[in-house]
Amino acid sequence: MKFISTRGRAPSLSFADTVLTGLASDGGLYVPESLPKFSCEEIAEMAGLDYRELAFRIIQPFVGDDLSDDELRGIIERAYSSFRHSAIAPLVQTDSNEWILELFHGPTLAFKDFALQFLGQLFDHLLKKRDERVVVMGATSGDTGSAAIEGCRHCDNIDIFILHPHNRVSEVQRRQMTTVLSDNVFNIALEGNFDDCQNMVKASFADQSFLPDGRRLVAVNSINWARIMAQIVYYFYAALRLGAPQKTVNFSVPTGNFGDIFAGYLARQMGLPIDQLVIATNANDILHRCISDNDHSPKPLVHSLSPSMDIMVSSNFERLLFDLYGRDGNAVAELLADRSAPMQLDEAILGKARELFSSYRVDDTRTVETIRELHEQAEYLLDPHTAIGVEAARRVRKSTEQPMVCLSTAHPAKFPEAVARALPTHEIPLPAYMQDLFQREERMKVLPNDLQQVHDFMATALK
Ligand SMILES: *Cc1c(COP(=O)(O)O)cnc(C)c1O
Repeated sequence: MKFISTRGRAPSLSFADTVLTGLASDGGLYVPESLPKFSCEEIAEMAGLDYRELAFRIIQPFVGDDLSDDELRGIIERAYSSFRHSAIAPLVQTDSNEWILELFHGPTLAFKDFALQFLGQLFDHLLKKRDERVVVMGATSGDTGSAAIEGCRHCDNIDIFILHPHNRVSEVQRRQMTTVLSDNVFNIALEGNFDDCQNMVKASFADQSFLPDGRRLVAVNSINWARIMAQIVYYFYAALRLGAPQKTVNFSVPTGNFGDIFAGYLARQMGLPIDQLVIATNANDILHRCISDNDHSPKPLVHSLSPSMDIMVSSNFERLLFDLYGRDGNAVAELLADRSAPMQLDEAILGKARELFSSYRVDDTRTVETIRELHEQAEYLLDPHTAIGVEAARRVRKSTEQPMVCLSTAHPAKFPEAVARALPTHEIPLPAYMQDLFQREERMKVLPNDLQQVHDFMATALK
């Protein structure tokens, strides 16, 4: 299968090159030239498959000849062996026709493990075949960093450097990163804020001459095609369990960069019967404003109780725009090129998007109330991100007869502050396998916000 850029001016690439490239050279994002489509009968035959075999069926058509069936099966097997629940993505019912899809049973307790465990294994396999070693470099405000480190810690052909703002991530988040003591894992605590970390990473990608010979940087950020692709699987998995393809199943997704919900859109394009996708946002509501009012103006960042959704613009939204504009890369490039005014979508095109997508914004107060309410109604404890998805679904769902699946993107123990506000007397222990997190040895390097010193540290570490 070939992959093309959403801005139409970069060369088309194979699956393997797409995965190892990240951003296209014209600034666009790679998408498949055409999507695989499953018939109703083919989907019906997937009912009852376990998560790994289902993942193989969904992912295989994208891979083409770049991986043999055995190779792909091995990658999937290794990626999901670190999950603590044997169902990988279990469903829990919280109301009549309301379900929670628990995506937090991976090693870092958040849904990003689904994509990053897979991506780490995929990278390592492709690099071994090419006899190449690469350096993964990324900045994190907390969550992505630990998922990326867990994804890469066992990879022979990858060294990973994650920068976090020193003293500005929670202790659980820091320890999830710094207690991984593998030789190929390097945590840098930068004396600065998250923006400083991101700028440091950007500058390093722009000029990689500080790296030892033959090494290059690769990104594992949420625009990587393999991350989106891995996330399509759990939409099929949940819907099949709730009666698809005979039944239509809808989803509500706590949304930041639009990667997770875009995977739901792809599942629908591939044949899964979905009538409604709910974009649930916190106070950083650019997508909600865009869908409801055609208002795509960036606003200052708000720090919310759901920090993993605190974004100003959603990078993966471009992939949806590409489809909405008839897969015309020039139209997308034009739409995004004009920086003098906020993007305005064509009203007819927006109308088309609204047939599938609904949106709703949930503020911190309502987030806390929703955690409390669901605990009373169903004795179920939500994390703040998931609470936003549940509340949004309840506000905008179109059908009460079709099942509504709310994606649970994190375990509540990861965000104790929001839970404590909702239920002050409630203890939320870390899962058993993480209970010694606060006793484990940590390793990190504190560095000043200085490009030269960061590069010196990296070059020495890679010798
Ligand atoms: C990353 C993240 C999200 C947002 O997902 P996107 O794919 O960026 O829309 C939601 N919840 C949690 C817990 C996350 O870590």
